[in-house]
Amino acid sequence: MKKITILGSTGSIGTQTLDVVRENGDLEVVGLGAGKNTELLEQQIREFSPRLAVVWDEKDALSLRESVRDLDVKILSGMDGLLELARMEESELMVTAIVGMIGLRPTMAAIEEGKDIALANKETLVTAGQLIMPLAAKNNVSILPVDSEHSAIFQALHGEDPRQVSKLLITASGGPFRGMTRKELAGVTPKDALRHPNWDMGQKITIDSATLVNKGLEVMEARWLFDVELDRIQVVVQPQSVIHSMVEFCDGAVMAQLGTPDMRLPIQYALYYPERRPLSGDRVDFWQLKELTFEKPDTDTFRGLSLAMDAAREGGTMAVVFNAANERAVAKFLKDKIRFLDIYEIIEEAMNHHRVLKNPGLDEILAAEQMTYEWIEGRW
Ligand code: NDP
Repeated sequence: MKKITILGSTGSIGTQTLDVVRENGDLEVVGLGAGKNTELLEQQIREFSPRLAVVWDEKDALSLRESVRDLDVKILSGMDGLLELARMEESELMVTAIVGMIGLRPTMAAIEEGKDIALANKETLVTAGQLIMPLAAKNNVSILPVDSEHSAIFQALHGEDPRQVSKLLITASGGPFRGMTRKELAGVTPKDALRHPNWDMGQKITIDSATLVNKGLEVMEARWLFDVELDRIQVVVQPQSVIHSMVEFCDGAVMAQLGTPDMRLPIQYALYYPERRPLSGDRVDFWQLKELTFEKPDTDTFRGLSLAMDAAREGGTMAVVFNAANERAVAKFLKDKIRFLDIYEIIEEAMNHHRVLKNPGLDEILAAEQMTYEWIEGRW
C-alpha cells in the first residue's frame, strides 16, 4: 500500500483526494494537515486513521487532542507541525492541497526527505520554482501535477520527447466575467466572482479564475514544471472547460487531454502515475457537447494574466511579490474591503514598488512575501 500525507486535507482538493483514496481502497493516509476546520479534520481522522494530524492554531490542537483522545493519533500545530508532517518517515508521497505560500517550506522539507509530491499548491512553483525543481532533481523526487491544466500537459507528454515540444497551450474557461468590460467589472461583488461557470473550487482560486490571475500563476507554474520558456506558453480561452490543455509538437501535431471538469481525475493520475485507474463519474458526451469554442484572452480588461507575465519575465522576487500582493488583495476583496478592479491596482503598485532580487534563496523569498504584506497593509 502506498503511504501518503495530505497537506490541506479539509479543502476542495484535500477532500477530493480523500474521495479518490476512499474509492480505490489501496492507499494509506498516514498524515493529515489542515487550517481551522477541526470538525471535518476529526471526521477524517476517524475515517482514515492517520498517525499524525496537524492544525494551524495550538488552541485548536488542544481541543482536537481532547476530542480524539480515544484514538492513537498525534496532534500537532503550526509550521513545526506541518514540517513534521512533511517529513514523516513512513510517507512516500505528499499531496500539497494547502492554499498559499504557506505550502512552500513543508514542500521543500518533504522533497529533502525524498517524498514524491502531488502538487496542487501552485504558489510553491510560482514563487520558488528555481529552488524546487533542482531540489527535486537532486533528491530524485517526482513532482506530479494535480492542477488540471498541468496534468493535461503531463498526460499529453507521456511517452514523448520533451525536446520535440514546440509550445504548451494552457486552456482557460475565462471565468464568470468572460466578455465583460472594465466598466461592468467595477461593480461586481465577491458573490458574483465566486460563481464559477464550470469548476467548484476553493474561494481563493475561484477569485483568481475571475481575475485571470490563476491563468498567470499556471503559466508561471508550467514554465518550471515542464522547463519551457515563457514565450512558448500560450493561453487559449476554451469556455466549455472540456479541453484541459494541449501540447504542440515540432511537426505541428497537437495533443490534448479532454474530460468533464472533475478534479478527481488529475488527483488520481498523480497518485497512481504512471498507472491509469478506473474512475466513476460523468464522461464527455460528444453528441450533447455539440461545440468546442476558442478565444484569445482579453488581457487588457483581465489584467491578471498580463501582470503575471510581467512578473514572470522579470523573474526572481517579482513573482513572489505578484503572488503575495494577489493573496492579500483577494483576501480583502472577499471581505468586501476593496473592489474587484482594485485587485489589479494592488498587484501593480506592489510590483512597481519592488526592487527585484534575481536569484533569491528561501529566506529572501519569505522576506519578499512579508515585505509585500506589510507594504499593502500600510496603504490599502
Ligand atoms: P481550499 O481553500 O478549498 O483549501 C485550502 C486548504 O488549506 C484547507 O484544507 C485549509 O484548511 C488549508 N489551510 C489553509 N491555511 C492553512 C494553514 N495555515 N495551515 C494548514 N492548512 C491550511 O483550497 P483549494 O483546495 O481550492 O486549493 C488548494 C491549492 O490547490 C491552491 O494552491 C489552489 O490554487 C490549487 N488548486 C486548486 C484547484 C481546485 O479545483 N480547487 C485546482 C487546481 C489547483 P481549513 O479549511 O481547515 O482552514
